[in-house]
Amino acid sequence: MANKYQIKAKKHLGQHFLKDESIAKKIADTLSLKGYKNVLEIGPGMGVLTKYLLKKEITTYVIEIDTESVEYLQANYLTLSPRIIEKDFLKYNLNEVFNNEPFAIIGNFPYNISTQIVFKTLEMRDQIPEFSGMFQKEVAQRICKKEGSKVYGILSVLVQAFYDAEYLFTVPPEVFNPPPKVESGILRLTRKNNFTLSCDDKLFFKVVKTAFQQRRKTLRNSLKTFNLSDSLRANVIFDKRPEQLSVQEFINLTTLIENDAN
Ligand code: SAH
Repeated sequence: MANKYQIKAKKHLGQHFLKDESIAKKIADTLSLKGYKNVLEIGPGMGVLTKYLLKKEITTYVIEIDTESVEYLQANYLTLSPRIIEKDFLKYNLNEVFNNEPFAIIGNFPYNISTQIVFKTLEMRDQIPEFSGMFQKEVAQRICKKEGSKVYGILSVLVQAFYDAEYLFTVPPEVFNPPPKVESGILRLTRKNNFTLSCDDKLFFKVVKTAFQQRRKTLRNSLKTFNLSDSLRANVIFDKRPEQLSVQEFINLTTLIENDAN
């Protein structure tokens, strides 16, 4: 590192700096570099992952909320300087930079906003062909799990409707400064060739969220608020609980509900 200066980690920003260079490189190498010319790293901190991205045939942007980290990056990564965005990833309109162009997302993400990062990615899925990086292990696993698993939930279904999700590898707390309380997991999401749903997207999100809010109940009970017709409610699919439904079955269910309303 060009500079010995270290940033003292700020807990409220979810700062756990990766110390292990080989893991940083391994994360950078999860990108396929196919289908986009730009990559956005969320939360670069002191740039441990960024420096491996800068070696690739791709244009790297970083978005970082912490002024101290931004100053550090500006001083140590001169070529990156014009592409450092000092903003909150969750609030910033990324099209001010990407102008509707596709970009990949990568990061050793701030774990305190994991779910919100995934939801923002889903909202911008038309522009995001690939997403990879590190979450707390439990979140990374949940996103990749299939139906029938106890941890299969809203994130699993919504992500897998649009992306193929792979859990890649686990890393222990000791490789971070300070170490987090939990293990971490690296995953990669690759957008499906056809990522247009055959049902209404908004209704699909609503059905999935409502069904899992009461995950132990049958769909007949949990989806009461949709005011479905008696004949639809008699369908055997409503005997099931949400964790028994595959992504495709959730899509089929949404179509049934959509047609019922007509
Ligand atoms: N990638 C670095 C740092 C990981 S810690 C490493 O591996 O060492 C998470 C980073 O996300 C911190 O630098 C933190 O300041 C940043 N961060 C937290 N919330 C953010 C937000 N809303 N938008 C952008 N960056 C954020």
